[in-house]
Amino acid sequence: MLPALPVEAISAREADMAAAGRGTPPPGKKARGTRPSQAKKAAAKAPSTRPGGGEGTARPAKPVSKPGAKSAAKRGAGQAAKAAKAAKLPVREGEGHWTASELAEVRAGLEEQIGALRREIAASASQIAEGDTSEGAGDDQADAGAKTYEREHELALSYNSQDLLAQIERAVQRMDAGTYGICESCAKPIGKARLQVFPRATLCVSCKQREERR
Ligand SMILES: [Zn+2]
Repeated sequence: MLPALPVEAISAREADMAAAGRGTPPPGKKARGTRPSQAKKAAAKAPSTRPGGGEGTARPAKPVSKPGAKSAAKRGAGQAAKAAKAAKLPVREGEGHWTASELAEVRAGLEEQIGALRREIAASASQIAEGDTSEGAGDDQADAGAKTYEREHELALSYNSQDLLAQIERAVQRMDAGTYGICESCAKPIGKARLQVFPRATLCVSCKQREERR
């Protein structure tokens, strides 16, 4: 039975080949017969690929250039808005207006401090929490006293950091609100030069000095 299968397979293949041969007897016709079909296929492909390719090259060029132009326009508009916003901030007499880059520099410094303070506060909070859990029986009074002092010291530092953080965050908020650089006491300009040295200042020099004399 097994040898019969290859024979059947071969004969079937031979029959196919014979039929194929019969369908295209002369080599010349065979060539013509296949070429037009290939040409048709190519022609069929060509209209679909060429316009597609044409659109394909046109389309990517558009989306690439359009969002690029849009974001560039947005960036330009954003920069212009930033420059306008910076220029509107109060400065002291004789001082030049804030430029967007000057303000961005001050802001970057403030944001860096915000990040550092937040990390510091989180670290000290976990330290305080650790202190709470490690306080236990077996501590003598001196140990307990030292621990209480440490804890209070840590808390005080944490409160100072939180105050400082709040002050710096307020400075950034004031930049957003366009009120950055206005003295919180006399409402006169704090001054660009002063803010570039003490970016979180909320008082002008004279109000600060008056406050310190008290
Ligand atoms: Zn003032």
